[in-house]
Amino acid sequence: MDNSPEDLKVFAYLAPHPLDDDSIIEGDCLTWIPGFLNEEDEEEGLPATYRECNIKIYDEIEALTEFHFKNSIKNMWPLLSKIQFQSLQIAIDISGIINNQKNTSASYLHNKSSQIEGIYTFSLDRNLLHSYLQAKANNTVLDNYDLSVWEHELIHLLDHEEILKGTLYGLSDAPSENFKYFFLKFRQEGIAHLHYVLNGNLKIKNLDTAIKDFIVFATEKKAKLDFSKPTNQAIVEELLSGFEYYNIGPWIILDLLRDQWENIHYEMLNDCIANLKSNQPIEKETILEIIKLGLQLDSITYLKMTEKYFDKGFMPL
Ligand SMILES: [Zn+2]
Repeated sequence: MDNSPEDLKVFAYLAPHPLDDDSIIEGDCLTWIPGFLNEEDEEEGLPATYRECNIKIYDEIEALTEFHFKNSIKNMWPLLSKIQFQSLQIAIDISGIINNQKNTSASYLHNKSSQIEGIYTFSLDRNLLHSYLQAKANNTVLDNYDLSVWEHELIHLLDHEEILKGTLYGLSDAPSENFKYFFLKFRQEGIAHLHYVLNGNLKIKNLDTAIKDFIVFATEKKAKLDFSKPTNQAIVEELLSGFEYYNIGPWIILDLLRDQWENIHYEMLNDCIANLKSNQPIEKETILEIIKLGLQLDSITYLKMTEKYFDKGFMPL
């Protein structure tokens, strides 16, 4: 029997839920939610988080999250239909306890997911939830970025194995291994961001600029890294910081795929690079086809292929 996106079990839940017995969430953490009434219910002797009108909002947030997530599932279905799913879970971080970073929207939690069990876990941050709630309240549509967040995270899900492999390079205290991990971030985020970029959302407008930026960024990072002694977590975090992966990565992936598939898909990839540059739309099927090729570019092959941009010996391979 064929899978269908409607049959998938998607659970979005507030984490922690304000009504959990051991929940430490107080009304003061939730005042950012439009419509949240931060007043004790004196008649019933209940804290604000237990008020009926607020409980209704919790349910709405969960339903709204599932709605947006399922839309993205449908968009990505041609790539997802072969995966065995038991359940997809989304932990909604309404209190900012799980993630207090300012710029994040959502994450694929690879370490809380299991391919064998078919259980995949994500988190939704307050920034994106806020956009959801505002769009709903004002009856407006989400911007392209917010709309494509789950497509990005679902591509990470499809890339599960390579992401797991990559983390090993990050956990090592060998600078050369960490530097490989830095390069792999362009692969991971580059592939995940293809959906957004191929739909015409570009910060970098052409391949040449992306390659130039790639070389500059990598050279700067390499200069800061001391290859003569072991690293620690803080050094790795500093090495990986920045948002260039999202802007440069997709272009690098397209360029490498064009090399890799020069006998079969050259025209499709070459046209795609040209169309992006000249602001021409790319067809949905082509976008999914390219993402699929991207996911087949494994980490080791990718690392070998990126050597072409740098002087001999730059890459610690
Ligand atoms: Zn990502």
